[in-house]
Parts: sequence; C-alpha cells; structure tokens
Amino acid sequence: MCEAEGEMQTQEATRAARGARGWLDGWGLALKNLFLPIYCQQCGLRLLTEENTLFCPTCWEMSPRIARPFCTLCGRPHPGAVGFGTRSNFPCAACRERPNRHIRRLFGAAYYDAAIAETIKRFKFRDRPHLAGSLGQLLVEFAEREMERDRYDLVVPVPLHRVRHRLRGYNQSFLLAERVLPVFPRARLDTSLKRIRPTRTQSRLDEKQRRANVRGAFAVLGDACGGKRVLLVDDVVTTNSTVTECAATLRRAGALEVDVLAAALAVPRHDP
Ligand SMILES: [Zn+2]
Ligand SMILES: [Zn+2]
Repeated sequence: MCEAEGEMQTQEATRAARGARGWLDGWGLALKNLFLPIYCQQCGLRLLTEENTLFCPTCWEMSPRIARPFCTLCGRPHPGAVGFGTRSNFPCAACRERPNRHIRRLFGAAYYDAAIAETIKRFKFRDRPHLAGSLGQLLVEFAEREMERDRYDLVVPVPLHRVRHRLRGYNQSFLLAERVLPVFPRARLDTSLKRIRPTRTQSRLDEKQRRANVRGAFAVLGDACGGKRVLLVDDVVTTNSTVTECAATLRRAGALEVDVLAAALAVPRHDP
C-alpha cells in the first residue's frame, strides 16, 4: 500500500472519529485531561494544558531551531560556522553556484528533528489541526527575529489538492499561514494558488522523482499575485521541489518576487 493510500485510509477513520470527539472540545478537553491524563512523548512528564498535546515546554524548546549563521538564500545552516559566534548570514557554496531562479530567499525556523518533526507528522497525518498553535508560534518567533516584516503583500499557503484537502479536513500550510500572518502587517492571506493535479506524497521519492511529481501541478486563479511580493508558507521543506514549482507558478502569474517560510527544513544537524 502506498503512503498516500495509507494516509487516506487513516484519515477516513479519523474523520469518522472527529464527530464523536467534537464534544471533547472546550470544557471537554479539561475533563478529558483529568480522567485521561496525557504525557510528554519524550520525557513522560504529565501535560497540563492542551496547547501542545504531545510535548512538554522543555522538550519542545530543546527541539533544535535554525540559528544564525544560515544561508541568505536557501536558509540552510552553515555547518562550519555553527558555534563560532558569527552572527551574519551569507550564501552557501551551492547557492552561489546555482541560485534558485524562482525563490528569492527561503527561510526555515527549525530542523526537521526531535519534537518538532514528530509534531509536524501528526499535524499532517493524524488529524491534529490544533497543533497549528505550537508550530505557528515557532514560525512567529522566527519571522519576528529574522524577516523583514513590511516586505510582503501576500502570504500564500502551499495548497493541497482538493481531494486530499477533503480527506484531511484542513490544509496544514493554510493553518500555519494564518498564524504567521499578523507578523506581516501589510500582507493579506491569499489562496489563489491551487494544486490542480493530485501528486504523490513526496517523502519516499528521490529528488528527480520529486521534481517530476510536482511539475505542472499548480496554477494561480485570477490576478491577485500581479506585481506582488509573496511569502509562500509550507510545513516542511526537503528538496525545495514543491516550493520551487509553486514559486515558478506564482512568478508566471506576475508575482514580483517569492520568498518561502517553512516551519522546518529537513537538513542534517551540525552540532558545535
Ligand atoms: Zn518532555
Ligand atoms: Zn544556500
């Protein structure tokens, strides 16, 4: 069974459960926590709020963030410079050689690792839309620290195909875009970028297959992007193929420039 089918079946089941679980919202959550206590997935500490139902604040904070210096263009941390106290960002060798033609700058808030990776997986595949709270806060903290707040006209989530959207019940990138929007006072949320062709889940594909998988998969409806500076929001970026295809589509639709903000980058960790 391929991953997409597996996801669909899981999500059919979770959709059925969603109705039954509805009463647990609000006061129900506090009651549930009283009778069915929840514990941190990493250290086992009892969790007292429903803000993040997976990890305690300490384990969450220990999940590694991306800090300076990182590549000015692709957002990847510079392995050699970690821990050397240098604070200025600069382009990596790969970007100097072959800069991305469609994306001006890509930013990632954290490594796709530890508590953050686990949270993103459940956020996407296990019907946990409330996890947008913790992940959104991660984006807000990064964006306030590292990004130009007045730069963008539009904040655009990476879209899901309508079939997958219906099965999942929500678009995780849309929920993240909503959370980070207030950081950019000039920007508004725009969903005119659509996924017009269903694509396979990228995680099991190599780089070449990923590019082929998303080629021609997106389109922009209307002319909302014309002359606009766009910030594209995604949950996790691995090889850039999805966000590059989205950015190319947005640029063809007249966007002046496209930057990308992801909650996590799947890059190797280089501890000092
Ligand atoms: Zn913990
Ligand atoms: Zn780079």
